Amino acid sequence: MTSGLMASAQTIPGVIETQLDALINREGYRTYDDTVTLNAVRDYIVDEFSTHADVTCRQDYLVNDVTYSNVIALVGDTTLPRIIVGAHYDVCENQHGADDNGTGVVGLFQALEQLKDYSSEDYCIEVHGMLSLEMIGYFSTEKKSQHYPIGILKLFYGGKGDYITVVRKMNKGKFARKFSRKYKHSKTIKTKKFTAPQSLPGIDFSDHLNYWALGYDAIMLTDTAFFRNANYHQGTDTIDTIDFDRMAKVIDGLVNTLELL
Ligand SMILES: [Zn+2]
Repeated sequence: MTSGLMASAQTIPGVIETQLDALINREGYRTYDDTVTLNAVRDYIVDEFSTHADVTCRQDYLVNDVTYSNVIALVGDTTLPRIIVGAHYDVCENQHGADDNGTGVVGLFQALEQLKDYSSEDYCIEVHGMLSLEMIGYFSTEKKSQHYPIGILKLFYGGKGDYITVVRKMNKGKFARKFSRKYKHSKTIKTKKFTAPQSLPGIDFSDHLNYWALGYDAIMLTDTAFFRNANYHQGTDTIDTIDFDRMAKVIDGLVNTLELL
């Protein structure tokens, strides 16, 4: 995805629910050791991406002699610096992984669909920044539904898990700063910006970690994972726990913000 995009956001909760169901509702589980299911999900993602992107390709790589794949789609003007929006599609052990990370992948489907009018031709070299969608569908308005790596943070962020979080590393990155500011200003959903040292537990538990390691400016959009969602890495991470109305607003905010970068 490249900067300078324009689109109007309009994510429909019923549509993202159907997409999530198609993604996660499989006979097996999309784990590293069930490559039949994992590859079937990969192919579904390729199909979804191809519907809206001009270029969709697979990047295969080997781990312990087993082939795994990233799926890449391009939209936008490739002469501009690139913004990478990513989400992992595998699960940890035999779970549905509705929130972790089916919601992130569906976020990508929607972003692509809503930004599809921007044609692209080939790869661009300069990376403007990376955004990781890591669990974007679990919310609660109950008191004490939100936990924190450090208890005192509750005073600043509140005890209700009814917001989305934009997480970035302390003292780093123009892209991350700009994205988090514009996302919050888009006001599609209650948003908290969270800036912390990388040593804080949870802050680097997603794919932006690899970008940080290589010096890229990267950020994570998340419902805070296990600090809120008790179903994290459990068999109970199922589609009925997802708040599709709020998730749609998270995606709308994403699309609105991408068009402003
Ligand atoms: Zn995850």
